[in-house]
Amino acid sequence: MATSSKKDEVETFAFQAEIAQLMSLIINTFYSNKEIFLRELISNASDALDKIRYESLIDPSKLNSGKDLKITIIPDVHNRTLTIVDTGIGMTKVDLVNNLGTIVKSGTKAFMEALQAGADISMIGQFGVGFYSAYLVAEKVTVITKHNDDEQYAWESSAGGSFTVRLDRGEPLGRGTKVILLLKKDHLEYLKERRLNEVVKKHSQFIGYPITLFVEYEHQKEESDEGKDNSEDRPKVEDIGSEEEKRESDKKKKTIKEKVIVPEELNKAKPIWTRNPDGITNEEYAEFYKSLTNDWEDHLAVKHFAVEGQLEFRALLYVPRRPPLGLFDTRRRKNIKLYVRRIFIMEDCEDLLPEYLNFIHGVVDSEDLSLNISRERLQQSRILKAIKKHLVKKCLELFAELAEDKESYMIFYEHFSGNIKLGLHDDTQNHQKLLELLRFHTSASMDEMVSLKDYCARMKENQTLIYYLAGENLELIANSVFVERLCKRGLEVIYMTEPMDEYCIYLLKTFEGKTCFSVAKVGLELPETEEEKATLEEKKAKLGKLCKAIKKRLESKIEKVVVSNRLVTSPCCIVTTLYGWTANMERIQKAQALYCNTPDYMSTRKCMEINPDDAIIEIMRQKIEIDENDKGVKDLVILLYELALLSSGFTLENPQIHVNRIYKMIRYGLGGEPGWVSRSARAYCLHCGTKELKRRKKAHARPSPPPPFSPPPPEAPPISPAGEGSEAAPPPPFLCQ
Ligand code: ADP
Repeated sequence: MATSSKKDEVETFAFQAEIAQLMSLIINTFYSNKEIFLRELISNASDALDKIRYESLIDPSKLNSGKDLKITIIPDVHNRTLTIVDTGIGMTKVDLVNNLGTIVKSGTKAFMEALQAGADISMIGQFGVGFYSAYLVAEKVTVITKHNDDEQYAWESSAGGSFTVRLDRGEPLGRGTKVILLLKKDHLEYLKERRLNEVVKKHSQFIGYPITLFVEYEHQKEESDEGKDNSEDRPKVEDIGSEEEKRESDKKKKTIKEKVIVPEELNKAKPIWTRNPDGITNEEYAEFYKSLTNDWEDHLAVKHFAVEGQLEFRALLYVPRRPPLGLFDTRRRKNIKLYVRRIFIMEDCEDLLPEYLNFIHGVVDSEDLSLNISRERLQQSRILKAIKKHLVKKCLELFAELAEDKESYMIFYEHFSGNIKLGLHDDTQNHQKLLELLRFHTSASMDEMVSLKDYCARMKENQTLIYYLAGENLELIANSVFVERLCKRGLEVIYMTEPMDEYCIYLLKTFEGKTCFSVAKVGLELPETEEEKATLEEKKAKLGKLCKAIKKRLESKIEKVVVSNRLVTSPCCIVTTLYGWTANMERIQKAQALYCNTPDYMSTRKCMEINPDDAIIEIMRQKIEIDENDKGVKDLVILLYELALLSSGFTLENPQIHVNRIYKMIRYGLGGEPGWVSRSARAYCLHCGTKELKRRKKAHARPSPPPPFSPPPPEAPPISPAGEGSEAAPPPPFLCQ
């Protein structure tokens, strides 16, 4: 790391490469909203104060180095410096070196990438590198700091790739940190009272510690006042009159000019959550939200409430517009600030909200918890558990309110639907409320997502099941074989595209008393008239022999073969048994990093469903009626099985074998291939059932082969049952193994 030299106790360190890059970006990027640097430095000061306050709750002696917890801003026009002082926890020498320059945070790179992608520098706080925003306005930054466990140190850098650290023998701080910015000449506005006042009010009015600005006044006074003016009440008095003026004033003994520095508190507002919600504007909520989260955008929704009675607390909960960085990073749980009777306790209390609500930001201020409760005792606290229950309830209420405005709800749902689904998995007590928050596309609503309630409200009169199908994307699902008949009959099917959806629905099973049914599973029952039922039974009986023959051929590959009425244009499909994984679930499982041998009882159990009205099935039936062991049918079964697997969303165990089969067909379609022809001497024609190759050749004058390299026709001609329209239709390709 550092090129360190011990000369004069000054050590020089090189900034870690990414940090140096970040600093140069900050310095060189054209950016007008530079005022945010103050927000970042005040926010760091406030964090440091939070830390010492928390430590002092457990060990009050930590405040022996200074009881006042405050932030002071001191502009100095003559030296061109702006100084921000806090009485926070301070930094040891090691902290200084690590925190301000040598240990890179993951946010550094992410922030630079965001900047290059057009993000705003004001987002810096979210990426955990806010300190460096000081270089937006400063040409040199000096950080003097004193931690209870170390000496007072000074860090200094004018950027340029390095910084120095030395023991500081200047005015003792007691405890805390002083950040001195030597301002660039074109940013002297940040020395003016009005501007500083404005920036602090805008960005930092909700900081929980007093922020005092030292305001400089010029004061004309009688010389005789002098004795009084040196009283200790005045923070600093400096005579700025010129020598000549002094002589003149001596002569006249009338007035002299002096500079008086008067402290002015900038953030006197009561904590917002302690106020009555009726008197708080949305702008105030937004400002508070931004100060709490460093977000650059307003919140999406807010809930402000008080609980009274046996348990007493006030809370303010916010839903952001976007997920924060690393939403499911468990190390990053600083969303709810816990206060006890207005005193900040901690910001990373894991037990206030469940994992699935980790995107909620806010404040909880309890009247009941003890001030110096340790983290361990807090975890076991019954009061905290009761607070958590209320918070969850209020969050769900907030989401339900948000759902009343479709546009806002869709913003929410786009980012946080995964959290709701995780909630369905984790929070069984709130299943019903969480279910109502789900939204899906359906066969009848491809553009707009609908709720399960909406779906149920428009179910057909005799429809008893909630139909759903999960898959990789909407297009694939909408074109799936599984929904052919349902769509034709106008039965609405819920389309699920998120990996979590199917898990959730397994948990859900029913909604408003109606069973959810995956149309990718066996046993789909469509609402039917008695007549339709009887017709299907007839077809089943007629195809019994073929079903047996298919099952025999496919052996253990499938559990059973059934005749179904779900298909319209496809001859068959592969469905799964009620308790096995669907094709979609199998796909998701296989994509898991830790996927290994699936327990046998969970692996997909497949069934083949055949379409009694399909021409291919009919021909196969006829063949089987003539010869149970028809070789052509046997071969066809394998090909149909493979095609059905694909169209049903499964993958093939050995795609090459399947591909070879299709190549053979293509070659044949393009004019025949000797090898194929000779090996297929026992092939039969789908069209008329002719078995022998020579007879087949004679019987069907095939269309002349297309010229080499011209593509085959896009679709094979429709196959009609033997006898029907056989004259008009060109003969279909032969199939062989
Ligand atoms: P962040 O505050 O988001 O962690 P920063 O770049 O602003 O990122 O600060 C880096 C680190 O430097 C902080 O995490 C903190 O440990 C330390 N630090 C910055 N300012 C102060 C301060 N005023 N008092 C104590 N520590 C500070």
